[in-house]
Amino acid sequence: MTAAMADTITFDPRNFIGEPYRICPKCGHGVFGILLIRGSRYTRRCRDCWTTADFRLPTLRKKIIYLDQFVISNLVKLKNPTTPAQAKLAADPFWQELYDLIFQLRHLQMICCPDSWSHEEESRISNMNADLKEMYERLSGGNSFEQFDGIKAKQIGELALAWSEGREPQFNFDPRSVLSKDPDEWDERFYISVQDNPFVTEAGIRQTRQAHHANVVRLFKDVWAKQVRDFDYWYDLERTDYQRAIAQSVVQSQRERQGVIASIDPREQMSMEALNKFLPSFAEGLLTSILHVMQFPREGGVRSPEEQTKLLACFSKANRISEAPFLKLQAMMYAVIAMKAAAGQREPPNEGMTTDIDNVAHLLPYCDAMFLDKECRALMLNVPMHVRPDDAKKLYSMQVKVEFLAFLREIRDSITVEHVQAIREVYGDKDLRGVPAAQQ
Ligand SMILES: [Zn+2]
Repeated sequence: MTAAMADTITFDPRNFIGEPYRICPKCGHGVFGILLIRGSRYTRRCRDCWTTADFRLPTLRKKIIYLDQFVISNLVKLKNPTTPAQAKLAADPFWQELYDLIFQLRHLQMICCPDSWSHEEESRISNMNADLKEMYERLSGGNSFEQFDGIKAKQIGELALAWSEGREPQFNFDPRSVLSKDPDEWDERFYISVQDNPFVTEAGIRQTRQAHHANVVRLFKDVWAKQVRDFDYWYDLERTDYQRAIAQSVVQSQRERQGVIASIDPREQMSMEALNKFLPSFAEGLLTSILHVMQFPREGGVRSPEEQTKLLACFSKANRISEAPFLKLQAMMYAVIAMKAAAGQREPPNEGMTTDIDNVAHLLPYCDAMFLDKECRALMLNVPMHVRPDDAKKLYSMQVKVEFLAFLREIRDSITVEHVQAIREVYGDKDLRGVPAAQQ
């Protein structure tokens, strides 16, 4: 490092104190600025005399909005004149208004747009990875949905616990239970971005997705298109079959592990593939958790082996797993596709569609709204009324983009005077244009 460079990196603790400034209660100078914002509190400190004070902020209830990857991608393109799609997006006033409203509501602490495993995955296989990652992280503030396996395990865990306690399951769908941070905290003025996960490889992502998609295409052509059944048949089959698939996967993992153990050569290093087979699979982890729930009651103690066996046998006989919300949602959408296949639709769903179905099945219950591809929204709306969840109306797409903007404007119009005061206090005036409560 040269001397000139060293000079520029001087550390001044006063740089952490920022706008908006107020009059210092001790020295009277107008440099009593914001030092920290965390949870529902903030700290002011004077740049001159170092007087420090802590204050409360109003409690928040942010709306959780999921923006599909195509929205993230279009917002990136809108702001990048070198991409071919930029002119087209800029010509449609929808995209600019969407961009402005989303970021305004983010800064006003009214919404949270968490990122998901799908965003990370789809960005990693795109040539715009860095820009996409920057965009979804600016929108999420680094708040991420748990991976889908975790959400599955949580919902099935509640089904097992409720069964062992002889009660109905209670899914409260509190977004805090599946997010990496409490969404209802006031945002710091900056967040720290994390590097790409080095254990996720592009080839690995492509392989998993292609295998999943190939399976759906096979079902579409060989099963759904050939058997004429009604919606309820496919819906029930899809969700009741999951338990069998999990059991089968447990047996397969155990067999593969035995194969690895038998073939271990102490002179050679274990391959990644062998190591993967050696580690517990998702299905095995799930089974272990269910057994744990059956073994240990919440009030303490241990159930007898006979009791445990009986509980597990009845849980499995009743196929309680088929009641998991993610499974019901997924089954609804695939049942609609099965009906379309039987009605003569030629084209099987594409790879993007299988990803969208995963997103809706796992995230919809925890969101206030999702902005998705139009086919995916149409699938949910085609679910017969007697099974369709109320959640279906939280879905927006390009077909109803006007309604999505109206939904966002409504959030802006609902901001209270007290909230505006708090925003002015910690972030200043810059994001308050068009907010009715700020005009008085
Ligand atoms: Zn002072």
